[in-house]
Amino acid sequence: MSYQATLTYGDYRIPYRVNADPRKSSKIAIHVDPDGSVTVDAPPEYDASQVSKAVLRRARWVVSNVEDANNRFRHLRPKRYVSGEEVLYLGRRYMLRVEPDADAKPKAKLRGNKLIVTPRQSDSEAVQPIVRAWYRSKARDYYARLIDEKSQELPWITTPPPFRLQDMTRQWGSCSPGGSILLNPHLIKAPRPCIEYVVLHELAHLKHHDHSPEFFRLIDRNLPGWRSHKSLLDNMVEHLVAQ
Ligand SMILES: [Zn+2]
Repeated sequence: MSYQATLTYGDYRIPYRVNADPRKSSKIAIHVDPDGSVTVDAPPEYDASQVSKAVLRRARWVVSNVEDANNRFRHLRPKRYVSGEEVLYLGRRYMLRVEPDADAKPKAKLRGNKLIVTPRQSDSEAVQPIVRAWYRSKARDYYARLIDEKSQELPWITTPPPFRLQDMTRQWGSCSPGGSILLNPHLIKAPRPCIEYVVLHELAHLKHHDHSPEFFRLIDRNLPGWRSHKSLLDNMVEHLVAQ
């Protein structure tokens, strides 16, 4: 069970999500994600007022971490979709090259260290949707292959689960109680091991629908280096979701 609450501290009003975790022992754990979102894992016997008191006791820490995260996002310039700009794909940097062609079918493709985009006109409104469609088609193929491969290796999966792409700014993926998976198309910009971690994380939810110690043991067993992949991903989040 989870619900939304707000921390009020001085001029700050910071929303957070509370997850009542039945496997959580006696303590509350507060997490500030790199994108500035706050989640609180609490033992189920804590009521809302106990949770909000505990969060308030650590308000100064929460506020300073949320501010740090927001500052990292603020410094990011929006993409301009012009030749010479950098684009990321599977953790590597490519240079965008825009080659307008009024007669050709709009398309994008990798050649050497360049992503060549052929729009009808050179303005960024014409380039952006082509780049976006290219990322989505690469993401769809890559995730489908990875889910198939992992599904064959992982003993708790009999058939590969259905999945869809979903643009998200605060999550890389999710797994519904019914067992269907959503994956963020921006994740295709990350290094392969980071993508593998996210896919394994969601597939592990097909066995454990929570973030219990058993869930993390399952991930440990199947991808021992996942913590470093996760922190790499956390550190580049603002570059990956920039559009
Ligand atoms: Zn999860």
